[in-house]
Amino acid sequence: MTANKFIRIFLRLKGLFVCNFHFRIRDKALDLYVKPYRNGRLCPICNRRCKVVWILKERSWRDVVVCKWTVYYKYSPREIICLTHGRKQEKIPWADAHSRITYRLEYLMLVYCQIMTQKAAAMLLGFSTSTLSNHLHRSITRIRSGHRIRGLRSVGIDEISYKKGKKYATLVYDLERFRVVWVGKGKGRETIDIFFNDVLSEYQKKAIKSGSCDMSAAYIGAIEHHCPDAVLVLDRFHIVKALNNAVDEVRKQQWREASDCERKMLKGLRWLLYKHSSNRSKSDSRTLKALKKGNRRIHRAWVLKDEFEQFWNYKSPWAAERFLKSWMTTALKSRLEPIRDFVKTLRKHFHRILTFIGSRITNAVAEGLNRIVKIVKNRASGFRTFKAFTDLIYLTVGDMDIPAQISPEFRTL
Ligand SMILES: [Zn+2]
Repeated sequence: MTANKFIRIFLRLKGLFVCNFHFRIRDKALDLYVKPYRNGRLCPICNRRCKVVWILKERSWRDVVVCKWTVYYKYSPREIICLTHGRKQEKIPWADAHSRITYRLEYLMLVYCQIMTQKAAAMLLGFSTSTLSNHLHRSITRIRSGHRIRGLRSVGIDEISYKKGKKYATLVYDLERFRVVWVGKGKGRETIDIFFNDVLSEYQKKAIKSGSCDMSAAYIGAIEHHCPDAVLVLDRFHIVKALNNAVDEVRKQQWREASDCERKMLKGLRWLLYKHSSNRSKSDSRTLKALKKGNRRIHRAWVLKDEFEQFWNYKSPWAAERFLKSWMTTALKSRLEPIRDFVKTLRKHFHRILTFIGSRITNAVAEGLNRIVKIVKNRASGFRTFKAFTDLIYLTVGDMDIPAQISPEFRTL
């Protein structure tokens, strides 16, 4: 066996021959002088063998790292003339036309970035983080180009912050598949209109049977305008969050008015008030009970919040409506300003909240969405650019399995 053949088998090289190789000891690099299988000369579009008209200058493609040796392919691509497509650069079997890394490395990079942070992936692949981010962006843009949203019947819209909370993006989810189908820069009506006008066709808009979003007028307006037939359900998590914030507002007011001695009792209440009744421990319950004597107003707010949890368990819409109405009356009587503000919002969206009961957008869907948002937030919150942020979302929770788009012969994991 010749050394060239050994290298080809050992490194599992596909679609190419190794003509020569050279170790650059100082750079820890292995240069492989390669040529495409059966001399290449294929048209990149129609795959026909064509006449060579020009030889371009030598290019280098980065491949995987093997035992700390970074493998590079070196080859001078040729320009060919195709009878149908004219003058083109010949097809490069191991990499995309303008890419500087091979498909193999691309696949590794995509899979690594899907399961770990970009920093860790960069370390394993021997890139700097900025280089990795650039390569990633190019690959994802190429793979997603021409991709169309399919079978969208239940749509969820939400905003999410990136760049450490300084900037916003709008996410559109497919609520049946738990996937993000679109990411837009900015928040509000202009952003979401781009999605409905430019991304979806009229037919696709008609196919949407239900929509879910937070209580912002922009998203509600957009769904009602573009999909008039869809059932609109307000997202459960946003309602719960609004109520939690109202309770916290009551706590803050009391804290401001309290004396030093009273403050001691109010310490550590913040997270306790946020807790759902199902994850409350015995000592938590004791603290909350003591609150009844300690601070009546906070206690009253918390009781209201706790009672509201029941609403989500109702099965029949009329019973839920009766509950919600009586809860609102009690809440209004509480004389707690933040809670009353919350009731006002509820009243404004009364029928949209009731659609939650008996609609197909159930608890599980909401949980699924929450999970996606958590993944994205954990992994993407530090991202400075919108570009890197969208890449990560499409790669981890997007509606298309991006690594699977690389041809199977280059998937080496
Ligand atoms: Zn051709």
